[in-house]
Amino acid sequence: MPFAPVPAQRPVLTHTLGFPRMGAQRELKFALESFWRGDSSAADLQDTAAQLRQVHWQAQADAGLGFVTVGDFALYDHVANHIQLLGCEPARFAFDGTTPELARYFAMARGVSARAAHDHPGCSAGCTAAHATEGQPALEMTKWFDTNYHYLVPEFSAHTQFHLASERLFDEVAEAQALGHKVKAVLLGPLSFLWLGKAKEAGFDRFSLLAQLLPVYEAVLARLKAQGVEWVQIDEPILGLDLPDAWRHAFEPSYWQLARSAPKLLLATYFSPLAENLRLACQLPVAGLHVDAVRAPEELVGVTDWLPSHKVLSVGIVDGRNIWRTDLDAALACLAPVADKHQGALWLAPSCSLLHVPFSLQAENKLDAEVKSWLAFAVEKLDELNLLATALGQGAAAAAGALLAARTAIAARRSSPRVHRATVAARLAAAAPGADQRTSAFPARQQAQRQRLKLPLLPTTTIGSFPQTAEIRAARAAFKRGALDAAHYQQKMQAEIELAVRKQEALGIDVLVHGEAERNDMVEYFGEQLDGFAFTANGWVQSYGSRCVKPPVIYGDVARPAPMTVAWTQYAQSLTAKPMKGMLTGPITILQWSFVRDDQPRATTADQIAWAIRDEVCDLEAAGIAIIQIDEPAIREGLPLRRAGWKPYLQRATRSFRISASGVRNETQIHTHMCYSEFNDILPEIAAMDADVITIETSRSDMELLQAFGGSAPGRAGGFKYPNEIGPGVYDIHSPRVPSVQEMTALLHKAAEVVPVENLWVNPDCGLKTRGWPETEAALRHMVQAAQEVRVLLQEEEALA
Ligand code: GLN
Ligand code: ZN
Repeated sequence: MPFAPVPAQRPVLTHTLGFPRMGAQRELKFALESFWRGDSSAADLQDTAAQLRQVHWQAQADAGLGFVTVGDFALYDHVANHIQLLGCEPARFAFDGTTPELARYFAMARGVSARAAHDHPGCSAGCTAAHATEGQPALEMTKWFDTNYHYLVPEFSAHTQFHLASERLFDEVAEAQALGHKVKAVLLGPLSFLWLGKAKEAGFDRFSLLAQLLPVYEAVLARLKAQGVEWVQIDEPILGLDLPDAWRHAFEPSYWQLARSAPKLLLATYFSPLAENLRLACQLPVAGLHVDAVRAPEELVGVTDWLPSHKVLSVGIVDGRNIWRTDLDAALACLAPVADKHQGALWLAPSCSLLHVPFSLQAENKLDAEVKSWLAFAVEKLDELNLLATALGQGAAAAAGALLAARTAIAARRSSPRVHRATVAARLAAAAPGADQRTSAFPARQQAQRQRLKLPLLPTTTIGSFPQTAEIRAARAAFKRGALDAAHYQQKMQAEIELAVRKQEALGIDVLVHGEAERNDMVEYFGEQLDGFAFTANGWVQSYGSRCVKPPVIYGDVARPAPMTVAWTQYAQSLTAKPMKGMLTGPITILQWSFVRDDQPRATTADQIAWAIRDEVCDLEAAGIAIIQIDEPAIREGLPLRRAGWKPYLQRATRSFRISASGVRNETQIHTHMCYSEFNDILPEIAAMDADVITIETSRSDMELLQAFGGSAPGRAGGFKYPNEIGPGVYDIHSPRVPSVQEMTALLHKAAEVVPVENLWVNPDCGLKTRGWPETEAALRHMVQAAQEVRVLLQEEEALA
């Protein structure tokens, strides 16, 4: 018997912080898209939404949860729901009181085009109101903490006013009550709501809005109380961040104010240790506290020390961020002393909302039975909570059968030869200390590469993908379905590669790419060819709005059974005398966009992937490929929420990258690419990746970011100069607009002011797969011309000097 906890001798209640919204078959996605196309009515959409809520609440009731959670559902995003609840829709949308709530909601979420604005109900044909003529971009979207979910960012200014402006939450509470459920409502707390928003005027501090915001929260809470809601979960995830003092100190008075009119409040924190905010969280005037015991298990003791015994302690014991079955024995061993010590009520929950995991394993017909038996999606996680509560409250004997089944699955996973491959472990263990270092430092490599490649000054290149036409996607889909055989598929893809090569040659680009026609997704493409990865049929997770992603599952030691890209790249190289750049996805990006195993450190998994990619890099080199790009667009988003964790994370991440890149000779040029522009705070670490060339997004920030690379970033006294070569994007690929030659020469001149011109490359901001060919060719023609003009100019200047 592994562990027999003493029964807590009191009932243990279970609940969830939130539930996936999309539905088992992504019903919400399809209903939304149908509504946006105009194929169905608002009433149809609301019907689907109500049905989904009903199913999701029923799943919670069936699993024996103490409450169903209401207020976590959203048609697009829960922060957008709060913007309407709190009456702070940005004035720039110029809603005039006649636009219905739903239309305003989607206007904020998706923007209003100038033409659509004319269709505004109540507008006459000759309407001249601002909203009718200008259109408005959507609210900005950004990542919800360190997840891959994106929320809509509230906009604040000195003119922002709040009032209780939406009945949606109260209607949903009534809806659940009418179905006979006991309801716990959930709200995003006032401090987190303000924190997650953005000031729209320079110098305006959104914190100054708190005093105005609190009375509206009071009103919301009073309404919920009047509806008979006993508990409100109020989320303040920012308690897990490094907060300015003013924000920390505002918690206590704010919650005293809310306590006046509120039902019982369960303050919910998640994603990150509370650290210096632990005592504060324990002592706020609320009736209960939820903590994330998956991300911060070491804090449980501190919480039981500080949390007054009359308060509810909700322990987030089931991982809400991952898809593995919970080790119930380990969970019970962790909970038993907590139950012992905390005299007040004990609740069990997922660590965070289940929004970040797929709906249910029931629909999984693609995963093999073995891997499937190791997993738990949202519905299964609710069952785990139920089991834990039974075992904890009544003793393990009360749940013996189910505990045994879970234990068997965990043990099988632990000992499976599919998880542990001795060769992979041996390889990592045998890695020489210098395995993450190139043979020579950059200057020697640069010289060797120049001799070999003989590229012109300001060499031109692209980031990897070319337009993924409907034809390419159809061919790939037919091949997957089995409707197109391998030989014909290969022919089709080779034809696409040849087309891309010919076009690049005609444009006069210096370093070519094969265009990535054969790739569906930059992570999936590699995961499908690596050992240790599994793919689900239906493991969808909401990314934003109706957009869902289906992350691969990394369940075992990663290895590369065979080359993944060599044949395509070699074929492409055979078509041209110009250098063909090999194109790979880096270890950190593969890790970041997958569900990662929890039975070894993430860094170990990253290193395993890195060695597999290194094999590919070496094979490309052996096949005569002189330039290899290893994309790492996700390095920055892996940064821990607390700054103290940044350095160790970046040290490990950049080391993994270097492992993947360091198996090659000096004269092989390694590129990396990142598609974002906030580098100021992590530049030395990015430089530590030691790629020979880095291409980055800069055109939308007008090269501002380059200040950092050149050593004069604001707040970076002493000036760190980026030592290697760099390709700042000279045009934005996110829109079909074709920039003029002159726009790009201007950007190049700007770049040349901060980066030595012999280290500069010329390329777009990112890959071109979402673009069409006409604008792609037009823009690249201008780009090549811009590079030529600047080259001539620089040579003239040199001749003069
Ligand atoms: N090589 C990839 C492409 O061009 C890079 C994509 C990315 O940066 N996200 O599509
Ligand atoms: Zn990119």
